[in-house]
Amino acid sequence: MASQLPIYLDGHASTPIDPQVLKAMLPYLSGQFGNPSSQGHCYGWEAAAAVKYARQTIAEAIHADPEEIIFTSGATEANNLAIKGVAEAYIQRGRHIITVETEHPAVLEPCRYLERLGFEVTYLKVKPDGLIDLQTLAQALRPDTVLVSVMAANSEIGVLQPLTEIGALCRTHQVLFHTDAAQAIGKIALDVEAMSIDLMSLTAHKLYGPKGIGALYVRRRSPRVQLAPQMHGGEQERGVRSGTLATHQIVGFAKAIALGLAEQPQEGERLRLLRDRLYAHLQTLDGIHLNGHLTQRLPGSLNVSIEGVEGAALLLGLRSAIAVSSGSACASGAAKPSPVLLALGRDHKLASASLRFGIGRFNTLEDIETAAAQIMLAVQSLRRGAS
Ligand SMILES: *Cc1c(COP(=O)(O)O)cnc(C)c1O
Repeated sequence: MASQLPIYLDGHASTPIDPQVLKAMLPYLSGQFGNPSSQGHCYGWEAAAAVKYARQTIAEAIHADPEEIIFTSGATEANNLAIKGVAEAYIQRGRHIITVETEHPAVLEPCRYLERLGFEVTYLKVKPDGLIDLQTLAQALRPDTVLVSVMAANSEIGVLQPLTEIGALCRTHQVLFHTDAAQAIGKIALDVEAMSIDLMSLTAHKLYGPKGIGALYVRRRSPRVQLAPQMHGGEQERGVRSGTLATHQIVGFAKAIALGLAEQPQEGERLRLLRDRLYAHLQTLDGIHLNGHLTQRLPGSLNVSIEGVEGAALLLGLRSAIAVSSGSACASGAAKPSPVLLALGRDHKLASASLRFGIGRFNTLEDIETAAAQIMLAVQSLRRGAS
């Protein structure tokens, strides 16, 4: 069955809520409305029990303990809490942080903020395939380095960084390792023990859960990570993140993760086949350049630069048929090439003529065939107009 138009292929930006997730959430938006912190009556107890169960589900999914999960409003807040919280708590030990040029703004901007406060940040370059070089990371480590922050899966090009190797390196040097796993959770296996991860940011809305909920995993043992709270108030989440817990969001988040785990790895294989099919179609056009490593990437993720077209014009031509995103963000009306694609070494022209596809749970083979046909028509028509 084909999806409604335009066909949604922008799963890196957000995803629709799975009907099962919505169903799990609804009781907590009506009858079971209690505050999980209210310990004097059954409304509070019911909410607290739901939060407890959700916390367990999420912890198990990443091989953590429930007390190591701190709920936040999403991955942006989790990244801010991890980076600023560690920087503040470990200021006596050092003021140097290492991250990567291709990180999400929710990592880069807290780092830039810390630089204005006197911290030093090293922004690692990536190889042309989007992956970091472990040797370069090893060389960047200093005695005053307190944190390394490297994302699990890139939000534009989908590449998967070598978490296990990075974690091992950080552990050897006794430097904390944070990973932004907003795009990765539920799609690839994440294990905070096997990967030596000390802090991990999660969000629900890239995994068929609601917007406005996420979590930060914070290691409690060997080592016990110290974190300075960035939100002060009623001391929820053991004082690390104050604010009334959003029971319905938390329940939906856990359901989304449980569904994601249950469908793996079969769903990953299905998405990989759809993705490869789309890429095979696009490759029949001349001048198609894959952005990011061919196989070391999320199964539903594809990013290509297309010679001889303008990214903005291409999106305009496609918008009634498919919903995708381009490397050219049009915040001010001016097309701006993607910093991630520039970091891969793409020139301005190719960096601003890219399409990012995030194929997901509700996409069918028919969607992919339709999308491919529409893109090929649009590219050919734009190229004819240009010549
Ligand atoms: C979407 C995304 C974020 C932001 O998450 P929110 O929950 O929307 O705040 C952060 N990092 C990455 C890699 C993302 O893809």
